[in-house]
Amino acid sequence: MTVKIIPIADIRYASRVPHVPAQIQTPSGLLADTLGRPLRDLRISVTDRCNFRCSYCMPREVFDKDYAFLPQTSLLSFEEITRLARIFVAHGVEKIRLTGGEPLLRKHIEVLIEMLAKIKTTSGQPLDITLTTNASLLAKKAQSLKDAGLQRVTVSLDGLDDAIFRRMNDVDFPVAEVLKGIEAAQRVGLAPLKVNMVVKRGTNDAEILPMARHFRHSGVVLRFIEYMDVGATNGWRMDEVLPSAQVIERLQTEFPMLAVNPNYAGETAERWRYADGGGEVGVISSVTHAFCGDCNRARLSTEGKLFLCLFASQGQDLRALLRGDFSDEQIGGAVGHI
Ligand code: SAM
Ligand code: SF4
Repeated sequence: MTVKIIPIADIRYASRVPHVPAQIQTPSGLLADTLGRPLRDLRISVTDRCNFRCSYCMPREVFDKDYAFLPQTSLLSFEEITRLARIFVAHGVEKIRLTGGEPLLRKHIEVLIEMLAKIKTTSGQPLDITLTTNASLLAKKAQSLKDAGLQRVTVSLDGLDDAIFRRMNDVDFPVAEVLKGIEAAQRVGLAPLKVNMVVKRGTNDAEILPMARHFRHSGVVLRFIEYMDVGATNGWRMDEVLPSAQVIERLQTEFPMLAVNPNYAGETAERWRYADGGGEVGVISSVTHAFCGDCNRARLSTEGKLFLCLFASQGQDLRALLRGDFSDEQIGGAVGHI
């Protein structure tokens, strides 16, 4: 057999081409990594571009007009993403989260969702497909996303104070437009809807209570995320992290809160509910309480590199296999050995 590998490497992330085993075993639907963690949840980044410049994620000083975003040919095509999704589902993945950059910037994203929605899990259930978005295009796209087969969305919103939010997204984007996107998603039934708020002490922590008041009794699950270090780009400092425990303390000053049991092992957010029945909130403590032990997520980058940890710097170059002369069984075998 001739092995054809197209050597388009993205030098920004170290990666290696996974080994394709000579003996292929049928996937058991129970893929686990070397730490024995089962793989249930796959995040797929569909673009590295974004129309926001959130200071904690894509600071303008780094992601400026000279920044080299990936060329179109480096991106996995919809066919390549769907092929990999099928392979991962055979290994036990049940949930796919589309992310980015800003996933709604990827042209014809609805077509990809339609393709993914046809995949069934190993137990014959529809794949759970969700998407995380800054909601700038959500009001316009909610219906077409729902029609394509998207089940839920998570919207990122860091506060209700317009000046604070505009400063944090750094492109002067107004809160009102995000709220319109949230309403549109609720109207078409992209539910239950979650809202992610990254909390930076001294920047938007005064927005914790206003956000809680706004989303109580709305069916929206508000989740507070500890501000993380995402590489050398965001100038991260520990004193800007507000530990989740303090978020809950602040909520308790106004609303009695009760802890809720996790839905499943490895759930990212610790769950709480308002004692008066106002709904649920979550806290994601990636800094003060990293949840590596029962993590069940993997992430596939825009150019097809697989990372088994959100903090990993070395990925497995699955695009090289997709664009090489390998069958689904061979790629599945390689994935099974990562
Ligand atoms: N653009 C989409 C959005 O903002 O929802 C999807 C991609 S964004 C990278 C996914 C999530 O990561 C968002 O909820 C965002 O708030 C969160 N995020 C980005 N940088 C972060 C950081 N430094 N610390 C904590 N969360 C972060
Ligand atoms: Fe864009 Fe999302 Fe990052 Fe903000 S958090 S810069 S919206 S990718």
